[in-house]
Parts: sequence; C-alpha cells; structure tokens
Amino acid sequence: MQDKGIDVKINELVDKYFDEILTSLGKVVKINSVMGETKGSYPFGEGPAKALEETLKIAEGLGFETVNVDNYAGHVEYGNGGKLYDILAHLDVVPEGDLSRWESHPYELSIRDGKMYGRGVSDDKGPAIGSLYALKIASELVDNPKNRVRLVFGTNEENGSLCLKYYFTKQPYPDAAVTPDGDFPLVFAEKGIVTYVISKKLSNDYSTKIIELKAGTASNVVPEECVAVLHTDKAKEIAYLVANYKSACKYECAVDGDNVTIKSFGKSAHGAHPSAGINAAAGMLELLSRIDLGPNNCTIRTLYKRLGKDYNGIGLGISGRDDVSRELTCNLGILKLDGEEIKAVINIRHPIFFNVDMITSQIEEAMKGFKVERASYSKPLYVSKDSDLVKLLLEIYREETKDDTEPLAIGGGTYARNVPYGVAYGATFPCEETHMHEPNENWSLESFKKFIKIYVKLIYRWLTE
Ligand SMILES: [Zn+2]
Repeated sequence: MQDKGIDVKINELVDKYFDEILTSLGKVVKINSVMGETKGSYPFGEGPAKALEETLKIAEGLGFETVNVDNYAGHVEYGNGGKLYDILAHLDVVPEGDLSRWESHPYELSIRDGKMYGRGVSDDKGPAIGSLYALKIASELVDNPKNRVRLVFGTNEENGSLCLKYYFTKQPYPDAAVTPDGDFPLVFAEKGIVTYVISKKLSNDYSTKIIELKAGTASNVVPEECVAVLHTDKAKEIAYLVANYKSACKYECAVDGDNVTIKSFGKSAHGAHPSAGINAAAGMLELLSRIDLGPNNCTIRTLYKRLGKDYNGIGLGISGRDDVSRELTCNLGILKLDGEEIKAVINIRHPIFFNVDMITSQIEEAMKGFKVERASYSKPLYVSKDSDLVKLLLEIYREETKDDTEPLAIGGGTYARNVPYGVAYGATFPCEETHMHEPNENWSLESFKKFIKIYVKLIYRWLTE
C-alpha cells in the first residue's frame, strides 16, 4: 500500500472496533451450529441457521443491508458496479466432542493468556466476524468504491458445502474470491479428490469364511482399527498365525468355538496424508491374505496388493506426481462386508494436471472382476502464482507480516473450490497451532487482529483499484 496515511487509519480503526468485534464473536460462538437434521426452513438444522441469523443481525447493526438465501447462506456487500469480489466464510462448526477435555465451555467465548477459546474461533466464526468488521472498516475508508465486495456466510462447509452450491444457483459467481478458511500466505493449488467404491461378492463355499469385516467410517480418514470374524474349522491354526504375525499393525485374536475374531490396530491420520498413519484395514487384508480362504484368497490378495500395500496408488497403476502438487495419494478409508459383498472405499488425491477419467479407467483395468464405482469427485483447484490475484494477496500479506513463506499446494479441499476463481487466504498463520476440530480450539488475539488488518487492506485494494 502506497499511502502510509491509510495504514495508520486502518490500525486505528481496527483498535477502535476490536472490543466490539470480540463481543460480536461471542454472540455467534454462543450458538451451537453443528449440522442437525433438516427441519422446515432449516436445511442443515436449527443451529447453523441461527448462527447465520445472528451474524446478519450484527451486520445490520453495522449499517449493512443483508441477504439470507433460504438459510443456506447469506451475504452483505459494499459498493455497486465494477467487478464483484467475494470473501467466503462459514458459520457451521464441527461437534465439540468430549466436553471433559475442554478447559472452558466450547460455546462460550473465553479469553485468556492472549488467546480466544471456543468452538469456531479459528474455524471459521472468528475469520467470518473478522471479515465482517474488515468490510465495515474498509467501507468507512472508501467513499466511492469502483468495485463491489461481497462477504458470504455459508452454513454447511463442514459437511459438503451444500450451502454454497445452493447459494450460487441463486446468486452470481464473483470475478474473484478468497476464503479465510485455510492457511496464509495462501493456497494456490489443491489436488483433485475422487472416491471410488470397489466391491465384489465373496464365495460362501469353503470351510473358512469371513462372516464379519469392518474398518473405517469415512473415506478421508486412515482407519485405526479393523475387526474381522472368521467362521472356520481351523481356529487354532489361525490363532497361532495371528499371534506370531508381524507387520506395521498390531493384532489381537480371540477364539470362540468355530469363530475367530481378529482385530488389527494402526494409527489414524487425515486421508490427504495417508502415509502419516498406519492403515488397520490394509493390515487386516495383509494378514487375511496369509490365511487359507479357498476361493476368496484371490479376492483378498488382490485387494491387499492393489489398495492396501502402498499409499500412492502404485498397486493400482495410477501413481505419479507433478511439480506443483506432488504425489498422488490413495487412502483405503473403509473396508467392510456388506451382506455377501466385500466393499472397499478409497479416497484418491490426484495432482492438479492429472485426468480423472484416465484414473478411473486404469482402476477398472487393475480391478478386473470387481465392481468399480466413482462415488464423488471434486476437481483440482489451481490459480497461477503469476496471476494478478495471487500477486496482490501475497503483496498485502508480506507487507503486513514481513514473512516470505511461499504459497502452498495442498491435498485437502477448501471452500475456494466452490467458485471458478478463488483461493484460500488465511486465516491460520504459518506454524500456528489452533486445535481446529479438536478440544480447546483457539486463536491468538494478535493473529486475529493481524488477520483483520490484512483483510481490510485487501478489501480496500479491491474497492479502489
Ligand atoms: Zn472451516
């Protein structure tokens, strides 16, 4: 920013509003906005809609006109004409989990040791309310805006972003957007995310049968436990094998007559980083492929070789990398016996320049004899580091923080995927630990303030250039 006078004014205004910002954030944190059941005019339950209503009420108090799009999402904006720029924030939260692990109540904003505590303070209610006041402050600094800035509050980011999918059927797409629901300095590349359900009917025609099998509940998590129950006339031999079997997983075995229950234990991790965990489902397939299962041996061994043996799709023949987003990853997230069918759900994160149809046909080829269904797909996101958007965001970030961390490429998916042209810009600073999605979620007041200043500057530039 050239005008040093503006810098000073921004600092003064952020300081002036800061107590009010915390009060407003407290009102929104108070509302438990975990997704609930659809009820009447509440598409994601009452909580998310109430958090939206409260936020729009605060915005009205600041002089904004507000729009609520059927309780899916709402917005406030400043300016008319010119280009349309969006800030996409969300007001829903993930469940608080075990209350006894919280040092203060998750739905009461608590400020101690220079930090704010409460569910959503960093993901993403803090950034949402911070953005609202950033828009307010920028509007006080710019009388005749050249462009429009719209702040959109979604209510379903944590469960598939159906809020924005619906919102953009009723409202126009922006020319460019940022979401404060990721990391600083910014995320310019996100891998494509595709899930497949791979299944096959097991034969029932052998003395040792798999009668139960279960691991994982979500494709994007590395399962940490797997249970299998075998019905067999060789219980003793199998128990002996399990007791002496060595792999990355640990195993337990219990014999009850002709039934053998085997458990494998690994380590959980996010599905975008499967090698950070130890996959208990893969460990179970490895063990089962050493047991005589008659006609099912081939099925189990194929599943192990193709899906369980590595984390990069090598077994499926789809491994590869590009220089921007690095290796393809493949996570075996769910493994179960569903009736007579064995089912595996895999979550693949592919480099941005890969083609998903080629991945699909290669998997069909590698899994011949199995049913392969593509269950969901989210395209990769890529905004060049040479784009005007990335250059502007980086310039403002570096000016405010004096930090020259390079833009990030990630395997996860952010809210920015819901618009044709946008990136995640904050709100977490490099090396900051906010315990998002965990007990004692927090965010430092210093970071919060710095975030608001960066967003005021961004909005100011968007409104004036
Ligand atoms: Zn979030």
